Amino acid sequence: MVDSFFVVYISKLSTKYDLQSMSIIDILVPRYCLVCDCVLYAQHERFICIQCYSNLPLSCMGYNSNNLLAKALWGRIPECNCGSLLTYKSSSKYSSLIKEFKYNNNKGVGYFLALQFGLELRRFSLVDFKNVGAIVPIPLSKTKKLYRGYNQSEILANGISKILKIPVRTDILFRGKNKDSQTKKGRFDRWLNLQNIYYIDKDKLEGLEEIVLIDDIITTGSTMVACIETIQKKKNIKINVLSIAYTHS
Ligand SMILES: [Zn+2]
Repeated sequence: MVDSFFVVYISKLSTKYDLQSMSIIDILVPRYCLVCDCVLYAQHERFICIQCYSNLPLSCMGYNSNNLLAKALWGRIPECNCGSLLTYKSSSKYSSLIKEFKYNNNKGVGYFLALQFGLELRRFSLVDFKNVGAIVPIPLSKTKKLYRGYNQSEILANGISKILKIPVRTDILFRGKNKDSQTKKGRFDRWLNLQNIYYIDKDKLEGLEEIVLIDDIITTGSTMVACIETIQKKKNIKINVLSIAYTHS
């Protein structure tokens, strides 16, 4: 029974893919593209197939103070450089990548996306990072971090840091106790709710002229604005913004 299942499985695979290019492990335990669900048979394919990779919905906004994300934050924070790897739409099949990372605790997907982002920033950014002394992930509350086991923004920061060679600092910005859930609130209510949640260790900003904050998805930008306000109340340094995905209305 198992034998016949295996024979059928192998024959189906061989009609669709070049089995000689697949590793034994991939034949026995196939991996699937998170976007289109096809079998990943090339060893260098990670999480998504080549075709889906080449069609990633890159935001192409670069890293500057004049793109869509920067404009969404204009008037709410001092001018800064902003960048986002992907344009996010919940209806897009690519949203599965973000959901896998954000809700299914697939840290590898986040790290993979962060490496891509780092490469994009290194290759195509016209603004350099020479004054940026730290990548600071948007923090989770201690309870949430304990529950989840890690901070997703920290995974992203680590991936970008690996490419840009800028240290990740988790000793600067912190989040206090969670108040009400943010998800069903409007922009003003989210802003009110976020006041006083974040706090910093000012001494740890010593010697830093410019930093980058990173979050997973930016929607209204309220979280980012609250964090920047919190830091700048204590020290006036340049704070730039990165996110893996940006969703705009
Ligand atoms: Zn695919």
